[in-house]
Amino acid sequence: MIERFGHDKIRLVKCPACGVDLRDKKASFHVESHTPNDFGLSPQGVIQ
Ligand SMILES: [Zn+2]
Repeated sequence: MIERFGHDKIRLVKCPACGVDLRDKKASFHVESHTPNDFGLSPQGVIQ
């Protein structure tokens, strides 16, 4: 999921929610299009 290059630079190469390849996309922009639920998190910290 995380690709390392250089010494301390990492970037998301695969969306943790839907698995889409992010190497040619704006990763942060794509990730923001998801809801916390997509990442297995509950919104507002509600335990489900
Ligand atoms: Zn995604």
